[in-house]
Amino acid sequence: MRDDQIFNLIEKEKLREKEHIELIASENFTSLEIRQAVGSILTNKYAEGYPLNRYYGGCSFIDEIEALAISRAKELFGAEYANVQPHSGSQANMAAIMALINPGDRILGMQLSHGGHLTHGSRVNFSGIFFNTYFYGVSRDSEMIDYDEVLKIARDCRPNLIIAGASSYSREIDFKKFREIADDVSAYLLCDIAHISGLIVAGFHNSSIDVAHLTTSTTHKTLRGPRGGIILSGKDFNKLVNFNGKEKTLSNAVNSTVFPGTQGGPLVHVIAGKAIAFREALQENFKEYIANVIKNTKVMAEYFKSEGFRIVSGGTDNHLFLVDLSSLDLTGAEAEKLLESVNITLNKNAIPFDKKSPSVASGIRIGGAAITSRGLNENDSLNVAKFIVRALKAKSDIELKQIKKEVVRFIRDFDMP
Ligand SMILES: *Cc1c(COP(=O)(O)O)cnc(C)c1O
Repeated sequence: MRDDQIFNLIEKEKLREKEHIELIASENFTSLEIRQAVGSILTNKYAEGYPLNRYYGGCSFIDEIEALAISRAKELFGAEYANVQPHSGSQANMAAIMALINPGDRILGMQLSHGGHLTHGSRVNFSGIFFNTYFYGVSRDSEMIDYDEVLKIARDCRPNLIIAGASSYSREIDFKKFREIADDVSAYLLCDIAHISGLIVAGFHNSSIDVAHLTTSTTHKTLRGPRGGIILSGKDFNKLVNFNGKEKTLSNAVNSTVFPGTQGGPLVHVIAGKAIAFREALQENFKEYIANVIKNTKVMAEYFKSEGFRIVSGGTDNHLFLVDLSSLDLTGAEAEKLLESVNITLNKNAIPFDKKSPSVASGIRIGGAAITSRGLNENDSLNVAKFIVRALKAKSDIELKQIKKEVVRFIRDFDMP
């Protein structure tokens, strides 16, 4: 008997995707091919280990799939080494951190409230529970990373590992500067490009691959693949690290910390989806896609500015920006809820030096990756920003109902990938 309960809910979610404007900066829409791979029979297979070195029989085709995913990832990122097994970005960070340092060592990461990620040292996360953590943030004036300040903090706390990367930072990150700081204090450098990996492979942001000791990423944000993680290394991939009292190359250490260190059987269906996503991102039209993401995001940010809103750091170099709502007498949480009621999906977000708690927050985060995948151009993106501003300034429920009607009529015309 068919599970109508679940399949009806999937149909409802499908309609929600179709009739809402999706602006969550960490989300995107995958291609049909990727979804076919992720929904395939590959989910049936156990394949602990790595290609040609498994703990289970029957892995000959799985080996070919994972080998393809690895070679495509290396080509796409210009990497010497790739591990495509991490189940998520957080799992990739856990394995990468464990390959570089030992429990009790010191991590210097970006403050969560300034745009960092939980896995960069937050007290509620493994990274803050098993390691001693220190933080850098953005400067109060520019709301951008001040590299001299990061160096000062690093010289002060002497970290074993520095993590560069963020979840809600709208400016390009200078990975070379981070490596100089790491070298200055003899720390390893981990670059977490979860949000911006699509921008990097398309050539719009500087690459961390040969700069960092290890690079981690999700595969489902601007890279537009299935939900998952990867770990990459460039010219340092063969560097010897002390691993559980033994010398190992960095790549061998990561292979151990992913499996058996932190995971069991890989999600082979997702690895197949990742391989397809890497191939898609290798196509010339992926560059065009990312160029459009950046353009669409800028258009929206500029419109907010022209309407008198303050954009954190004054603008954006990537696929997202933060709007400070303090002047509107509206919290981030209230704005998120209000916009949801007119079929616009985004998330509340703390702004640097926020006076409100993260669950309330003074800002909202707006991302352009998903709408661009539906084919919205700059003019369409301008219309999206206009809907948001109208909703935020709406005086009555009647006005909100009218906006919702227009939003649905507008967005339904754009096909889902
Ligand atoms: C999204 C994100 C992650 C974690 O990804 P999950 O797949 O949700 O675990 C890690 N680091 C950064 C910077 C991110 O933005």
